[in-house]
Order: sequence, then structure tokens, then C-alpha cells
Amino acid sequence: MAAISRKKNNINFMRFEKISERTAYLIGIGALLLGHVMYLIMFGILGVRPMMYFNIFSVTFYSALLLLLFRTHLRKGLIMASLAEIIAHACLGIVTMGWDMGFSMILLFIMPIPFYMPLRKLFMPYLSSLVPLALYIIMRAKYGSAETAMYTFRDHSLNDLIYFLNVVMGSSILLYISSIYMINREIMQFKLTSKNESLQKLATIDPLTRLFNRRAMGEYLKLVHLNSERTGKGYAVCLGDIDDFKQINDSYGHGAGDDALKQVADIIEHSVPAEGYAARWGGEEFLFVIPNADIEAGRECAEKIRRAIADRTFKSGEKRFGVTMTIGVAEGKPDDDIEKMISLADKRLYAGKSAGKNRVINS
Ligand code: GH3
Ligand code: MG
Ligand code: MG
Repeated sequence: MAAISRKKNNINFMRFEKISERTAYLIGIGALLLGHVMYLIMFGILGVRPMMYFNIFSVTFYSALLLLLFRTHLRKGLIMASLAEIIAHACLGIVTMGWDMGFSMILLFIMPIPFYMPLRKLFMPYLSSLVPLALYIIMRAKYGSAETAMYTFRDHSLNDLIYFLNVVMGSSILLYISSIYMINREIMQFKLTSKNESLQKLATIDPLTRLFNRRAMGEYLKLVHLNSERTGKGYAVCLGDIDDFKQINDSYGHGAGDDALKQVADIIEHSVPAEGYAARWGGEEFLFVIPNADIEAGRECAEKIRRAIADRTFKSGEKRFGVTMTIGVAEGKPDDDIEKMISLADKRLYAGKSAGKNRVINS
């Protein structure tokens, strides 16, 4: 039986869905807080007073942000405030310690961040990322030479260390925000695909028997016919109808009738070859089609199904009963009209009913 195939993603992004939006913000702001504590300690040891004072402000600022995180409506504002803090931090670093210590790199690293944010107007990210770029150019012009710096170190390895830390800080911020953006996008995509698949299933699967419904079968029949034209081989169309089903409903109840339909569907599903399709065609009518098959192969498959149904003891709660089915079989050739083949199978089905039911008719 053909089933709807599911394309599996190689990364299970749904694992990340457990990391709530708040956790993502918490990690981000927490990391920024930790980074600034580190800067504070470093500038304290080095005795760079303006940077020390600014980092005392930053540590207080990010601690406050951690508390404000619980207010969801403030979050976009919090990101903006963080970006402003990072820009101010970088500029102050350039003014006090000169161009060579890598504070300017931070301005470049944060340039793409507005593009990851849900801004309402398309030009807003461009406009927003112009701010760090413009500052980068202005700072270069005004504080580009080492002489303007208030603090420099004779020990060059100290300059290198600060440069290195600034680059790590700037690139980590960009990397973190990019990852969150990517994961969010993947989760969204995954949800959309699953939603689409379940909607498609609802539209093509009969809810009681889990077989294809008549509408879906119509599409598969077109496919089988096209395939037949391509290969030049015929296909078997079989139409089965449960015998005296009204009587089953009347004797054992509608629920028992439903259970019988499910069990019949189960037998058909397991008996139709893998390349075939089975559908609930109507109330207690089932249609199955076998590609690349002649009338004899169709008859054999239908006979197998008829016998399996007749031999089965059907169960519904405590009730036990027998069910039989009459099946009409027709063979479609590449040039035949598929509707005509279904009519022919239907005619043979009713010939079977007239002849006494519980039989397969193929001529
Ligand atoms: P025949 O051997 O000539 O096919 O007789 P029959 O009683 O099976 O045929 P008929 O068309 O008179 O009755 C079909 C019955 O199937 C009538 C309808 O109530 C019942 N039926 C259709 N759909 C369902 C369903 O989903 N559940 C149940 N329980 N019964 C259904
Ligand atoms: Mg019937
Ligand atoms: Mg019927």
C-alpha cells in the first residue's frame, strides 16, 4: 500500500523549541552581564577609570535587564537598549583607549543585527545599521591616531589582549543572535510543514477506515492511467461492496457496522500489493486498483480479499458476526477511459449481487 512519505530533516530543531524565547534572552543577557563583569575586573586591574565607571553602569544595566525580561512587551525595547549600550561602550573605548584596541570592531560586528529583528518597515534595518557604520567612520576620523588616546600601555601584549577580547565579544554577540534567528526560522518552517501535511492528510484520508477517500483516489487513478500510457501495460480496477450491510447495521447496531468497515478496510489494505491503492469509495463500497496488472492478477487479488473477509469472524465488543463482499473486476488498457473501467467493474459487481453475492466477477 502506498503511504504518504515524510521528508525527514537531518537536524531535529524541535528539540530547541523546549528552549523558550525567555531562556534564549536569559542566556544572551546573562552572557553580556558576565562579559561586562570581566571587562570591569580587567579595567579595574589596569586602572582605566572611565571604562571602569562605564562598566559599573553596564553591569547594573544588564542586571536590571535580567529582571525586566519577564515583561514580554518590553523585549524589543530591551534589545534596542542593549545595542545602544554596546555602541556607547565601543565609542567610549575608542575615545579613552584609542583605535588600536579593537573597540571599533564591535561596531562592525553589530551592523547586521537589525536585519534579524522584527522591524515593521523594510528600510528600517538599513537605517539602523547605518548608526554603527557612521560612528565607525566618525570615530576613525576623530580618534584614529594613537596620540588622542587617554590610556595606552607600554606592554604591547596588554593591547593585544584587549583587542582579542573585544573581537571575541563582538563576534560572539553576532554569532549568538544569528543562531537564535536560524533556530527560530527552522522551528517555524517545521511547524508550517507539519501543519500542511496534516491538513493534506485530513483532505485525502477517510477518518473511519484510514484508507484514501474518493477524492484522493480520483487523483491516484489519473496517475495510474498516465503510468499505463507510459508503460503500455494495463491495470486492474476492483470495486467491492459489502453484502447485506443494512442488515448488519439493523441486527448489531451502527457501531458494529462501523467496526466491520474498519476490519474490512484492514484486510483490503494488507492484501492490495505495495504498488496499488485502496480507497473507501462510498458508504460500504471499496475501490482498489493494481497498476501493471491484467484481469487475472486483479481477480486473484479480489478473490484473496473476498475469502479473507468471508473467513474472518468480525468482532464488535461482545458481538461476533460474519461479513461477505461481492467484487467486480475490470482491466483497464492504456487507451481506455478510466471512468468507463470503473463503470464496468460496477456492472460486474451488480451482476455478482444478482448471482447470489459473496463472489468475484471478472467477465
Ligand atoms: P447489498 O448486499 O445489495 O449491497 O445490500 P446492502 O444492505 O449492503 O446495501 P444498501 O445499499 O441497501 O445498504 C448499505 C447500507 O450501508 C446503508 C447504510 O446505512 C450503511 N452505511 C453506509 N455508510 C455507513 C457507515 O459509515 N457506517 C455504518 N454503520 N453504516 C453505513
Ligand atoms: Mg452493500
Ligand atoms: Mg452499497
